[in-house]
Amino acid sequence: MKLQENYSLQHHNTFGIYAKSRYFIEVNHAENLPEIFKLDLFSQVPLLVLGSGSNVLFTKDFDGCVLKMNNQIIYTPIDEGDYILVKADAGVVWTSFVNHCITNGWGGIENLSLIPGTVGASPIQNIGAYGVEIKAVLYECTAFEIASRTFKNFSNADCEFSYRDSVFKNKLKGQYIITSVTYQLRKHPKIDVSYGAIKDVLQQRGINHPTIKDVSEIVSTIRVEKLPDPSTIGSAGSFFKNPIVEKNVFESLICQYPNLVHYPSTLGRVKVAAGWLIEQCGWKGKFDGEVGVWKNQALVLVNRGNATGKDVYQFSEKIIESVDRKFGIRLEREVNVF
Ligand code: FAD
Ligand code: NAP
Repeated sequence: MKLQENYSLQHHNTFGIYAKSRYFIEVNHAENLPEIFKLDLFSQVPLLVLGSGSNVLFTKDFDGCVLKMNNQIIYTPIDEGDYILVKADAGVVWTSFVNHCITNGWGGIENLSLIPGTVGASPIQNIGAYGVEIKAVLYECTAFEIASRTFKNFSNADCEFSYRDSVFKNKLKGQYIITSVTYQLRKHPKIDVSYGAIKDVLQQRGINHPTIKDVSEIVSTIRVEKLPDPSTIGSAGSFFKNPIVEKNVFESLICQYPNLVHYPSTLGRVKVAAGWLIEQCGWKGKFDGEVGVWKNQALVLVNRGNATGKDVYQFSEKIIESVDRKFGIRLEREVNVF
């Protein structure tokens, strides 16, 4: 463990925003956490747990301690008949974990290929893509409770998952550090290619019986074409969540906007594509200084140079206001703002 002071976070957030943290600590072994948290520091300053910083926006320096889990083990799996339980440490890079599972033929997370970030962050917002969420495969996760300095296991139900949300973003916010996650994967994978673009590419390639490797490769190809690469242009992926509206709100919107892109949600509600709303307000591909809306997907805000976190935040406010004025829908940020 090494405690550093006045530490730059610029290479620890995919937006590439310059911000400093008063303290920074990287933890290589979860079992050291109880000892580390005996340090006076942790009762004196606020704590921010960071993974790869691919879902955060720093709008100011952090006057506290940033802690990064850097434990790196993928454990020997447990065989459970048709399923396999695979545990990975929080610090493992998500894409490495996905590739490990694909190589071993374990199905369930192939649709989540190429999502940036760490295993430890995967339950935080119930990561999802192409019709699959982590909720479908998370068996349990282990977390360190800061107040009691003890470890606790959370079952899938304990995580209270919903759309891009979990208990860790709500009533337990800031109280736990996730140290490992166990996923329940299939030995005989069930392929789900129902989400638009995957099916089209399978057809183009003449693949009738795709394997998880095919799905992973296709998802990765689509993502590379559509999304900005954080190593060349800063972003945190989708900046906003897709709003989920009540049926009566949807009915009045669709009368006015018959092309409104929408999908059924739970409890009779309707999910509206936020990217479409933003595009209709004329934002797609537009820049204000260094901050802009990605040309291929209006849900993604980008930093093409040296934007500050405040620039990005203010730009996102303008988008929220204009979508609200036109459609009466207030977009919520998916990105965690600090
Ligand atoms: P960070 O950004 O570092 O942290 C995110 C939040 O989790 C913060 O609140 C942080 O405090 C908390 N946190 C992180 N690690 C821990 C831990 N060990 N214990 C407790 N709290 C923790 N997301 C999707 O869901 N689907 C996508 O398809 C997707 N595509 C993306 C594409 C791009 C190009 C980018 C840049 C982002 C994308 N994202 C997507 C968002 C992001 O990749 C995910 O949310 C990812 O899980 C964040 O992981 P991270 O390690 O970077 O977390
Ligand atoms: P897309 O395919 O252009 O679709 C636009 C939106 O419509 C998506 O946000 C998606 O909602 C929704 N959608 C599309 N097909 C759907 C279906 N069959 N049923 C229900 N909803 C459907 O989206 P994209 O930008 O290329 O992204 C593809 C996938 O990767 C999406 O699942 C998206 O969430 C995920 N992704 C997430 C991030 C992030 O940062 N969170 C960044 C990039 C991509 P959902 O978002 O609810 O799936």
